[in-house]
This record gives sequence, C-alpha cells and structure tokens, in this order.
Amino acid sequence: MQDTLNSHQDLPALLAAQRHAFVAEPAPSLGQRKVRLATLRKAVLAYRARFQAAISADFSHRSAFETDIMELMGVVQAIDYLSKKLRRFMKPQRRHVGLYYQSGKAYVSYQPLGVVGIMAPWNYPLSLTLIPLATALAAGNRAMVKPSELTPRTSALLQEMLAASFPKEEVAVVLGGPELGADFSRLPFDHLFFTGSTAVGRKIMQSASDNLVPLTLELGGKSPALVAPGYAKAEAAAHIAYGKLANGGQTCVAPDYALVHEDERDAFIAHYQQAVARLYPKGPDSDDYTAIVNQRHFDRLNSLIDDARRQGAEVLTLGNRAAKPRDRTLAPTLILGATAQMAVMQEEIFGPVLPVLTYRTLEEAIDFINARPRPLALYYFGATDQQCAAVLARTTSGNVGINNTLLHVVQDDLPFGGVGPSGMGAYHGIEGFRAMSHGKGVFIQGR
Ligand code: NAD
Repeated sequence: MQDTLNSHQDLPALLAAQRHAFVAEPAPSLGQRKVRLATLRKAVLAYRARFQAAISADFSHRSAFETDIMELMGVVQAIDYLSKKLRRFMKPQRRHVGLYYQSGKAYVSYQPLGVVGIMAPWNYPLSLTLIPLATALAAGNRAMVKPSELTPRTSALLQEMLAASFPKEEVAVVLGGPELGADFSRLPFDHLFFTGSTAVGRKIMQSASDNLVPLTLELGGKSPALVAPGYAKAEAAAHIAYGKLANGGQTCVAPDYALVHEDERDAFIAHYQQAVARLYPKGPDSDDYTAIVNQRHFDRLNSLIDDARRQGAEVLTLGNRAAKPRDRTLAPTLILGATAQMAVMQEEIFGPVLPVLTYRTLEEAIDFINARPRPLALYYFGATDQQCAAVLARTTSGNVGINNTLLHVVQDDLPFGGVGPSGMGAYHGIEGFRAMSHGKGVFIQGR
C-alpha cells in the first residue's frame, strides 16, 4: 500500500520518482501493458459496490444505472477495448517515404511519452479519471492522477484502490482542490490530460506552457440540439430529454438548448413532457433521479431560472414533486422565450434545464449556432440524409449525434473531443492512444 500523497511538497518528488522509474526500464511490452490493464479492471470490479455507495453519498443520491452502467461498466468496457486493440495500436506503421537516391526502409513507431498527468472533474468521477488512466497505461506511460475535490468519498476511494493495485512509481493519486490543481498543472509532465471547464482549461494551458507540456483539454460549452422541420417530434423530444436529464443534466455533452421550428414548438414541448414522465415515472425526487452535486451548483441553477423568468421568459417545471423534496433535486425545467443575452443562453447550464428556442428557417438556426462558440457536441434531428449532410457541412463541433444524443460518448472506437473553446485533442479510439504516445519516424539505411 502506498503512503497517502496529498501535499503540495510531494508533487515534484513524486514526478521525479515516476520519471526515474520510466527511464530506468525499456518501454513496457504488449504483455506488460495488458497486465496493467487487467490489474485496473480487476480492481474496479472488486471496488464496484464501494464505488456505488461513495458516488451516491457524494451526490447525495444518484441513479444506480448511471453509476453502475454508464460509469463503472463504461470503464470496464473501455479497458476491454484497449486490451483487444493494443497489439494493433502498438504495431509500427510501415511507410513508403521518398528516399531519393538512398535505399532503406522507414516506419513510424509509437512509443510511450513518460509520465502523464490526469486532472478530472466531478460529474463522472470514475470514468473521467479511469478511462484516461487506462489509455495512458495502454500507451506504456506512468501516470499521476488528480481527481475532483467535489466528490471526496469517490476520490479517496480511487486513491485507495490505485494505491493498493500499483506501485506509486507507476500510478499515483494526489487529492486536493484548485490550489493543488494549480501546482499539479505546473509540473513538467510529458503530457497533461485535463477534463473540466473552459475557464479552468485556459489556466491549465497557461501553466503547462512554462514547461511546454503537451495537452489534451476536454472542456465544456453549450451543445445545441437542432430539430429539423418535419422530423418526428416524439422521437426527437425523447432523445433530447434522455440526453438532457442523464446524471441530473450534469453531463458535458448534454444538449444545452433546443432549436425547433416555430410552428412545431408546442408539439415538441408536449412530447418532451411525455418523455420526462416516461423516464422518471416516480418524479425527480425518486431514487432514479440524480441530485445536483452541491449547494453552490444548485443555487446557480436556480438563479439561472430566476433570471430568465425575471427577464420575461416562461418557465415550465415538469414532473411530480414530493411534499418534501430530497436534497438538491431539481425538476426537469423548460425555458421558453429565452433570448441570446440571458445568462441561461450565455453560460453552460449543466443541469436539467432546457431553453427551447424557435427558428423560422433552417438557415437561421444554423446561423444562430455558428454565431456562438464552437460546442462540444451538436445534435441534429434531420428528416433527410441531404439535410443532415448540409448541416454537417455548415457547422463545426467537437462531436456530432444524428437523430440521437449522448450515444457516441460510449463508442470506444470513435475519437471524442472538443474544438476551439470546447477543447483540443481527443481520447477514445486509436486517436486517444496516439495522443498519449510519441509517433517517432525511423529511417533505416539499407546496406
Ligand atoms: P473544473 O474546471 O472546475 O475542475 C476540473 C478539475 O480542475 C478539478 O480536478 C479541479 O480540482 C481542478 N481545478 C479547479 N480550479 C482549478 C484551478 N484554478 N487551477 C487548477 N486546477 C483547478 O470543472 P468541474 O466543475 O469539475 O467539471 C465541470 C466542467 O467540466 C463542465 O464545464 C463540463 O462541461 C466539463 N466536462 C467536460 C468533459 C469533456 O469530456 N469534454 C467531461 C466532463 C466534464
């Protein structure tokens, strides 16, 4: 078992020990990497029940489906995917380069970078810590991990689990908040993988620049869900409600606002209402519904709603409320008639609140999307393939879901990442593996 590492002073010495161990040994073989992945998989499953309890307590309550299937089994699935694909990912790529008058052969070899720093947010505290970690290990690296301070029980358990499973020179966990995060982001890692808000992402990039540390930034933003005129409204509303309400709306790729044709708004609202009733038949105070993570975030969401109401928007609260609501549950809420200037349309919402805006022409809707910062995800519910292709060609977003929301998040084979203010770099798929590797061009002179 490792010692507990939570102090600022520990960080440089810990990184030095990890890097020393990295350079002292040749790059880990396929077999060694698979053993590390198997160790991680086994540990996650052994801690399954304890993670469920810790996450539930951290959120005050959270749907068992979200913890067990979306997070825990999502991690196991990602580890299985990496183990299965690893041989192919590691294989040097033969290249036919222009060798002029020389003869020889050339290839690209993907080698480990060294020590990867991983900083994680609170909203999916397991998967957003452990999937980047599994990728770093698959790519042959060592890793230092800083989970979120806002899910303290889960983060402490992550530290316990990883300390019991790996020597600290291989994987170490440090616990702390923004202050420790700032020190962490100034360390001369070989790669820093940050998941969190755009505002903090900016600071991380500044800190990392001192040591020229390459970065992956998985950030946030306002992801639109655009429903084309004539698209089956019931289906679109059901997918948008699911994407919006998973984890109590606290999902980076949740649709942040919907754009529907002005003639179809009322039908959309009615379908959304029915979808909410189907998703949460016992209401948002039941165990099926995830609470807002803390009072500060809960108050912020309520003030976004109040501000919109004060400025003339109509607020529709859906679902049943128990006589005594459980801690920090917020009912699914629709905001109608929001303007672009309202805070609810300026800030990432990160809760079960959905502004529904209307448009007259698809062109107008696309212009509205393009006038805002490029989002992490864009969802398009389109009636025809041509319409879908036209929208894709006119918009830029980190990821795209056509006629669905959220699904691509769990597609291990697809790269996932933002663009512009919603992030840079990607994980999942071979792209994620390569982001944590150095692609070295090797030329061998023929004899
Ligand atoms: P956050 O940016 O506040 O915190 C993320 C991490 O940074 C935490 O570990 C935190 O301790 C640390 N941190 C906070 N302030 C810091 C500072 N000043 N200096 C250094 N480190 C600091 O984000 P959050 O509230 O934990 O998570 C929610 C945000 O994350 C949302 O914007 C959401 O969209 C985004 N997110 C993005 C993805 C993605 O994959 N793109 C996934 C989940 C969440």
